[in-house]
Amino acid sequence: MSDRPTMTTTAGAPIPDNQNTMTAGPRGGVMLQDYQLIEKLAHQNRERIPERVVHAKGWGAYGTLKITGDISKYTKAKCLQPGAETPMLARFSTVAGEMGAADHERDVRGFALKFYTPDGNWDLVGNNTPVFFIRDPLKFPDFIHTQKRHPRTNLRSATAMWDFWSLSPESLHQVTILMSDRGLPVDPMHMNGYGSHTYSFWNDAGERYWVKFHFKTLQGHKHFTNEEGEALIGKTREGYQEALFGGIERGEFPRWKVQVQVMTEEQAERTSYNPFDLTKVWPHAEFPPIDVGVMELNRNADNYFAEIEQAAFSPSNVVPGISHSPDKMLQARVFSYADAHRYRLGTHYENIPVNQPKCPVHHYHRDGQMNTYGGLRTGNPNAYYEPNSVNGPFEDASAKEPPLKISGDMARYNHREGNDDYSQPRALFNLFDEGQKGRLFSNIAAAMGGVPGEIIERQLAHFKLVHPDYEAGVRAALERLHGYKADTISAQPTAAE
Ligand code: NDP
Repeated sequence: MSDRPTMTTTAGAPIPDNQNTMTAGPRGGVMLQDYQLIEKLAHQNRERIPERVVHAKGWGAYGTLKITGDISKYTKAKCLQPGAETPMLARFSTVAGEMGAADHERDVRGFALKFYTPDGNWDLVGNNTPVFFIRDPLKFPDFIHTQKRHPRTNLRSATAMWDFWSLSPESLHQVTILMSDRGLPVDPMHMNGYGSHTYSFWNDAGERYWVKFHFKTLQGHKHFTNEEGEALIGKTREGYQEALFGGIERGEFPRWKVQVQVMTEEQAERTSYNPFDLTKVWPHAEFPPIDVGVMELNRNADNYFAEIEQAAFSPSNVVPGISHSPDKMLQARVFSYADAHRYRLGTHYENIPVNQPKCPVHHYHRDGQMNTYGGLRTGNPNAYYEPNSVNGPFEDASAKEPPLKISGDMARYNHREGNDDYSQPRALFNLFDEGQKGRLFSNIAAAMGGVPGEIIERQLAHFKLVHPDYEAGVRAALERLHGYKADTISAQPTAAE
């Protein structure tokens, strides 16, 4: 007698033969009642779910956040109190490539974290860069279209990218980081993560502070040049998965130092830049990073699809002590990410095991696709509306955050007016040594191949406003790589009206 389990249909009936289709005679003629064949083919047709429109290619693992510092005066978040240890999940990704894209492409890397805290899931959905290309969410779909395929050629378009960037000078900071050494990390372990947005902390006294999150790699920064990346892609398109999964299987657990920068509400009124502008950092000298703890990844998922592809991160997931800010990009993502998951995974996506909080969940949402939790999450069949007198789950006023002080007249304010888009890229450019500058120039020139001169000149004019050496360096690299000569049609920086 074999001790192998019996193979069954999804309805549990034993399968007598998994090798031969039911036919009318040995030479063919498939019988429609071969439900087993139909079920197999139908399931195969449904194995793929829509891939993420952005951040489709990803690599993830589980770990722990350990708090070693004391920031309890800023936040009541249980997972950030001294000594707290919180289980978590990380998913890293590229932005533009599809699910089958090669890992070692120059691109911003997603750095998405889910902390399973006693007060519910806290998701911090950041990148490996502290800033982003745009500051107004109305431009996000346009920006992503420039990173994706041209509707006619179905090819990526350098012209579209540089056309958009050169008309959007707020992108200069992120473009400079993307084209610098940090734009092509060797693997997810050797790069930093940043919450990027300004979030807020609030404490037991009801005081609010603005905060930025930093995750500094303890493995050190390591990057590839374009040439090294290209050579690797020729050998493997899955270098990040191999490195992260393989490292954790071998017991090499990557760690990041967790830090925060904190700004008071009063300080926020005095900064020369908008502290809620996603294209800006808070200078370390003014807002020194405070050590909070260490994040370690130490366990691989058992099933990539179930636990990494179906992992649903959303900035809407905050817990008492942590909240949002007037950052427009963050506010739009609070809607957009949860909406993407409802579309990709279904209405009850938070019920998929990897997304389930590790604390009791009680809500009054009902029915809908994939309601696999018994119909109601109230624990009482009569408690299906609220308020009720049947002792159903009830709100907890202690979770109420302090008021967020915002006032102003409603209008569509020009987000480019009065903004200094050049000083912070200049501060970064000035940090680079000669070798880093040379690679920056070459990477930009390489990415500009085939772009019309008018667009190149518009972008060079922006580089010149950052630093004359920036413009001169890129111009020389363009001439070296593409035989480019100055275009006389347009040399003025222009921002879209
Ligand atoms: P600091 O000199 O205090 O900080 C510079 C920071 O720049 C470093 O701590 C490091 O950030 C980061 N950095 C160093 N080398 C590189 C590089 N090759 N590519 C990208 N980032 C690098 O100055 P400021 O705080 O005034 O910042 C100056 C510029 O540094 C900013 O305009 C911004 O472009 C960049 N930067 C600033 C960060 C911030 O939060 N203030 C964070 C990251 C970059 P890290 O310690 O995070 O590795």
